[in-house]
Amino acid sequence: MLDNAPIIAIATAPGRGGVGIVRLSCPVAHIKADALLDLARQLTGKALTPRHATYTALLDATGAVIDQGLALWFPAPHSYTGEAVLELQGHGGPVVLQLLLKRCLELGKTIGLRLAAPGEFTQRAFLNGQLDLAQAESVADLIEASTEAAAKAASNALSGAFSKEVHALVHGLTQLRMLVEATLDFPEEEIEFLQKADAIGQLTRLQAQLAKVIATTQQGALLRDGLRVVLVGAPNVGKSSLLNALAGQNVAIVTPIAGTTRDTITQTIHLNGVPLDVIDTAGLRDTTDEVEKLGIERTWAQINKAHVVVYLQDATHDAPTDVTNIDLPAQLPVVKVLNKIDLLPSDHDAASTNNVYPVSAKTGAGLEALKAELLRIAGWQGHAGGEGLYIARERHIIALQAAQGQLEAAADCAAMGDKALDLFAECLRLSQQALGEITGEFTSDDLLGVIFGQFCIGK
Ligand code: GDP
Repeated sequence: MLDNAPIIAIATAPGRGGVGIVRLSCPVAHIKADALLDLARQLTGKALTPRHATYTALLDATGAVIDQGLALWFPAPHSYTGEAVLELQGHGGPVVLQLLLKRCLELGKTIGLRLAAPGEFTQRAFLNGQLDLAQAESVADLIEASTEAAAKAASNALSGAFSKEVHALVHGLTQLRMLVEATLDFPEEEIEFLQKADAIGQLTRLQAQLAKVIATTQQGALLRDGLRVVLVGAPNVGKSSLLNALAGQNVAIVTPIAGTTRDTITQTIHLNGVPLDVIDTAGLRDTTDEVEKLGIERTWAQINKAHVVVYLQDATHDAPTDVTNIDLPAQLPVVKVLNKIDLLPSDHDAASTNNVYPVSAKTGAGLEALKAELLRIAGWQGHAGGEGLYIARERHIIALQAAQGQLEAAADCAAMGDKALDLFAECLRLSQQALGEITGEFTSDDLLGVIFGQFCIGK
């Protein structure tokens, strides 16, 4: 909803809590700056001071008290959204918050106050330049973080660590483009000019820098999206036991994926802060139940996106065999695990060989090696607690890889010499555009600004 109406929402989670917050945001460019302040005056009977907490009654239309709480007034642009913001903190009961919301909507009718769409406060923060796109995304990731490491990495991204890297790349690209495009304007100087300025050297350094950012970003995306593991095995080989043993002390956060039906077939556990979605194929059976069918379809959708299969067998009766009972995607790597080695005679050689991991879900034997293997397959490089990482998304990786592809193409053009100079320039432009998709701020005006700012065009 991209209109310029003032918006309102209950900002705290549904349910009961110590406090509940109703937040209003009003674009002052379109509505008179004091409109929210007037609303607050009618609601509280008080004049608010910017950025001061005012203890006050919150009143209904008849002047009766709905609640007692705090009112905070943030004049534009010094607020989360960059607009004028009013925050009302009352008690965290669903009914009292609804009454407060309703009263505000009544009072705000004249200025077109409406309920905010999901994420709309953050969207406005982005549109008003308070946050760039990657930062805005990390707000959601911080809220959704399921491990300390993920929260730390989201907080890093929110404070701009990721955006800073992208900006540095964009800056480097801008410099290079400036050179090349100026050269295009003065063709007689072309070759010598590019050589003097070490255009190829600049490009090579940018490629190295970008490759580094991609590697870090992939780690960050792993923290966010995790590793999807398909767990296969006959009944009673110890699939649930293995899951619990892998979850270890974190067993309390073993949770079925929320919001779906019969999804106990997917559980999320954490290995060193990396979420591991374990898809238990026990849920894959023939069924006529429509709801269960839906669950199974979802499971297959997950399996098709999975990174690895863990094939569990019982060490006391099976020799390791291939996965045969489920038609899994052919390219999925398989880790074979022999469970219940604690039941084997003590002289039995249980060293892992040939991609077979002997474990005991009961005693914990062999689990470290298995965990290490899963994290290795995930590509996790062991950043303790998300330190030095920023959270990232698939979208960012795709954009970075697109930028990388354009730089490779640029390098090919550069190798062709002066006749491909305009193609070279175009590849650089497309690379920069791909990066701009990450922060959401690419405009060609930026580039023009830099060119005019640094070059004397009359030269
Ligand atoms: P699932 O059907 O594959 O999920 O298997 P369960 O996890 O329910 O385990 C089946 C049985 O094997 C249970 O009685 C477990 O206690 C037992 N079990 C699982 N892992 C081990 C193990 O490593 N050692 C021993 N001795 N028993 C195990």
